[in-house]
Amino acid sequence: MLAGYAFLEGKYMPVDEAKVNVMTHALQYGTGIFEGIRGNWNEEKKELYLFRMREHYERLINGSKLLKISLPYTVDELCKMTVELVKQGKFKEDIYIRPLAYKSSTAFGVRLHNLQDDIMIIAVPWGSYFDAETIKCCVSSWRRPDNNVIPPQVKATGVYLNNALCKTEAQNNGFDEGIMLAADGKVSEGSGENIFIVKNNKLITPSGASSILLGITRDAVKRIAKEQFGYDTEERLIDRYELYVADEAFFTGTAAHVTPIGSIDHRPLGNGDVGPVTQKIKDYYFGLIKGKRSEYPQWLTPIYHP
Ligand code: PMP
Repeated sequence: MLAGYAFLEGKYMPVDEAKVNVMTHALQYGTGIFEGIRGNWNEEKKELYLFRMREHYERLINGSKLLKISLPYTVDELCKMTVELVKQGKFKEDIYIRPLAYKSSTAFGVRLHNLQDDIMIIAVPWGSYFDAETIKCCVSSWRRPDNNVIPPQVKATGVYLNNALCKTEAQNNGFDEGIMLAADGKVSEGSGENIFIVKNNKLITPSGASSILLGITRDAVKRIAKEQFGYDTEERLIDRYELYVADEAFFTGTAAHVTPIGSIDHRPLGNGDVGPVTQKIKDYYFGLIKGKRSEYPQWLTPIYHP
């Protein structure tokens, strides 16, 4: 039996009981907008903290506009439903929450209009996304779609075929993750993460012009870097060669948290270990998401002792 809980068609249930019709439009055509939200377990406090849930639902609602999905719930209501779902799951470990706003009609035909919409929310136990402390990356042969193909700024399920091509190519070739370039050949992002490089004690990350998802972890890391450690983040076009000569690099993402990159295309960054700037940001971030820091309380939703 799968561990996990789901909200489907207005009801809460064990994930094993949550089933959709084979003709569901979103299953056939990828017409859905999803999110990933982390719940991080603090063993000492016996508490589970959801990280920046509100911002995830705001992004889901924005993406839904593109797909003409209208939901009968406000952001506040979605947050309340998610807290209820997680409580029902009685989780005492790190979890991952997957809301999916989708075209729920059982109808064939490629379109976005004249279809019913719904939302499901799934919560399952999920530990770390990458096993190693520093990961091996390659530059992917797959490019990110640009804004006039499918806007990569929204988490549309169909878009993730691009991400899956990148990830499988990288892993089949012995790497942990791929780094995709944008249509113009500038650095974009990983299959499920934003990328930062560190050069001369400055953080540099691609801007929204490089076909990236504007990550919520990316935003948190920019703020932490500046407000806690005084590092500025430059957002600009990044050339591929800058990856190879960076002092340090790391990924950010809801699933991946802050993941140090040890090498890119077999070229070690620094000495291949976690760099000092990355280490500081990573340690701070992990403390924060587990409710061990007092700064940014607005980013945490405690489940069991609100
Ligand atoms: N880029 C892509 C393609 C992603 O799928 C994700 C994960 N949501 C990210 C970046 C990181 O975004 P966030 O920090 O909001 O999870």
